Amino acid sequence: MAINLTKNQFKEDFLNEIHAAYATDLDGTSAFDQFTVLGRLINHYNGRNYAKTTKKYFEEDQKEVYYFSIEFLPGRMLKSNLLNLGILNVVREGITDLGLDFGGIVESEPDPGLGNGGLGRLAACFMDSMASIGMAGNGNGIRYRYGLFKQVFINGYQVELEDDWLKNGNVWEIRRENKACLVRFGGNVWMRPTTNNRLEAVYENTEDVLAVPYDTGMIGYQNDVTNTLRLWSAEVPPAGNEKYYTHEQRDRISQITQVLYPDDSSMEGRILRLRQEYFFSSAGIQSIIRFYRKNHKTMDELPKQVAVHINDTHPTLVIPEMMRILMDECELGWDQAWKLTTECMSYTNHTILQEALEKWQIEIFKELLPRIYQIVEEIDRRYREEMLPKYGEDIVNQTAPLGDGQVRMAYLAVIGSHSVNGVAPLHTELLEKDVLKELFYIYPTRFNNKTNGITDRRWVQISNEPLSNLIDSAIGKEWRNNPKQMELLGQYSDDDDFLEKFANAKKNNKIAFAKFVKETMDIEIDPEAIFDVQIKRLHAYKRQLLHVLEIIREYLQIKDNPQAPFTKRVHIFGAKAAPSYFYAKEIIKIINALAELVNNDPEINDKLKVVFVPNYGVSIAEKIIPAADVSEQTSTASKEASGTSNMKLMSNGVLLLGTMDGANIDIVNAAGKSNAYTFGLTVAQVYNYYENHSYRSVDFYEQNDELKRVLNTLIDGTIPGIKSEGQDVYDALIRYNDEYFVLADYADYVEKQKQISNDFLNKKAWNKRALANVTASGEFSSDYTIERYGDDIWNVPHTKELD
Ligand SMILES: *Cc1c(COP(=O)(O)O)cnc(C)c1O
Repeated sequence: MAINLTKNQFKEDFLNEIHAAYATDLDGTSAFDQFTVLGRLINHYNGRNYAKTTKKYFEEDQKEVYYFSIEFLPGRMLKSNLLNLGILNVVREGITDLGLDFGGIVESEPDPGLGNGGLGRLAACFMDSMASIGMAGNGNGIRYRYGLFKQVFINGYQVELEDDWLKNGNVWEIRRENKACLVRFGGNVWMRPTTNNRLEAVYENTEDVLAVPYDTGMIGYQNDVTNTLRLWSAEVPPAGNEKYYTHEQRDRISQITQVLYPDDSSMEGRILRLRQEYFFSSAGIQSIIRFYRKNHKTMDELPKQVAVHINDTHPTLVIPEMMRILMDECELGWDQAWKLTTECMSYTNHTILQEALEKWQIEIFKELLPRIYQIVEEIDRRYREEMLPKYGEDIVNQTAPLGDGQVRMAYLAVIGSHSVNGVAPLHTELLEKDVLKELFYIYPTRFNNKTNGITDRRWVQISNEPLSNLIDSAIGKEWRNNPKQMELLGQYSDDDDFLEKFANAKKNNKIAFAKFVKETMDIEIDPEAIFDVQIKRLHAYKRQLLHVLEIIREYLQIKDNPQAPFTKRVHIFGAKAAPSYFYAKEIIKIINALAELVNNDPEINDKLKVVFVPNYGVSIAEKIIPAADVSEQTSTASKEASGTSNMKLMSNGVLLLGTMDGANIDIVNAAGKSNAYTFGLTVAQVYNYYENHSYRSVDFYEQNDELKRVLNTLIDGTIPGIKSEGQDVYDALIRYNDEYFVLADYADYVEKQKQISNDFLNKKAWNKRALANVTASGEFSSDYTIERYGDDIWNVPHTKELD
């Protein structure tokens, strides 16, 4: 149910709260103050429902999901909370009545950058979906004092500034010091026999860290449900337990939750990262078991009450941690503890990139987590003992949790879980056939697919109001509850009047984005041009380079023949590079140098523009996506597990230009092949190159004059802003044989780009195809994804029935 609130009541409440919070009248407050007051009011309005939800789960002894993720990327929460409470319009009107700027208030909220990209954003969409379909779901993560760096460009180079997102407080969080727990690191541990013939773990010289939870309410969509996202903060334990903490220790402790690792997919071999992982895994499991024991006398029912989800390998230590607590504190034997643990646990793999499979040196691991290491050793010993006779030495050595002097987190996660899933059909298939094939051979029934999804509440309802209102007017509002209802838009696919309105909504979004670009970057872009969008982390496998080559090609085409007709284009990028990822940063520099060249050449005029929006994150995505025409999803086939920006863009009526990789495949299937542009090598062709070592990038260079000319501009001074960057990229592609097959896919990619330039001129046909994408996008709602996790993996019910 929506909250019952009139505009006048709201205005009165708001003014009262301004006085209560700031002891001043409206004109003495900043936009941020007004945001905070709105946040406090939302907390007032929703507090009782939040408490009621928690109580209901407890009293009805409801099985709950605990979604462990080292990243959550929720985006700003003001509008989303207002939408989900059903008071967005009332509040916006009330605020406007008071003479305030609602948009400015929204923008004053810091965007919590507690994640790098897709992984953290998925976790946030899942939180929203769990609450919205009425599933008892909790998030468990880390309250980073500083989020992902803020990106600025200086001279075209990425510069990283700290993201001090908490400096003015956080109105959404509730500090629950009474729910804190202690997490132990280091020291020695030994097993002492007890009087009742058991072994008890004795710890010496450990460094204890206080884990303090901060809870944020995850408000469901107009259903009176509020779930909890619990983020842990590391603190020095209070004085009194006769321990003294040195300066170094205090420092070490507060560092645990100080910063998010800015590395998206490559492994950071730092001890601090391992400390972070154990820290939130241990605190989360401790609080789950403590809560369970309030309602239960024995541990037998644990898997009936608790589902623990491991989002990528970072929280894998929940497995040995639960074993530790069940054995050392609840006094269960190994076999029973193992049975309960594996029944609770499930794991999602997110990548097939080798460098992203987490492994820890045993020496480091053992010193930091001695008791946990003992347990992992025992898991390893028993695994080997059980599997050796059945599968032989080779397979067992390849798959055991310990090997090559390392703790192999992905293998531990598979062995300790009852379910392992990939995030799109192709990705799951590759896990089974390639990355985890030996484990799939041993545990075939554990593996399953759960295709990722996105919440249309944020990515359509909030960020694209013109489209949402149009959909309402055509098919009613039920799609907001049940996104598959967007199928009903199919009846308008030949309705000229509707297509015109649909095009108008897009046009208005493009005008709004053009205004934003003008104001923040001082670049003029023409809303009539094709807005060609690529937004995602900067990574070689995602191949922003293809897009770069296309810009150069278009630039040369115009320069060669300035009078020839040309379909106007704006190439729009958003991307952060990991600070240590030199090559990715070089590509950023090249794009910015191209922007400099293209945007200021009078001969190019407004035919071609390049806009690299700095500081890509959820809030920037919300501005770009509604304005896009083309969605570039160009990863080398097999490398992108799913992708989710492809789904967000699809539901905003954007045509995919992509490889047959990840969920692109499923998007093309849903929207229809003729409503997307696909290109490039297939997975089979890529694997064929690997197997035969037969790829020679230089052949593509030699055999394609246009490609040769385009690549030469990287090193011949055509792009004045670049120095060694052009040479480095050139070398990577030609001398070092182009690891990600950019040159192999170039011709096909360019061919599709030319088709786009041509097709875009037929406005009606284009709009029809864009609409077909919206119409088919409902199935990618994370509400359905979460429903499938609930039914197939977690065995947790939900109150809202979906299609
Ligand atoms: C959706 C999203 C991503 C994921 O994008 P991909 O193209 O799937 O890699 C990354 N960052 C942000 C801010 C997002 O919203």
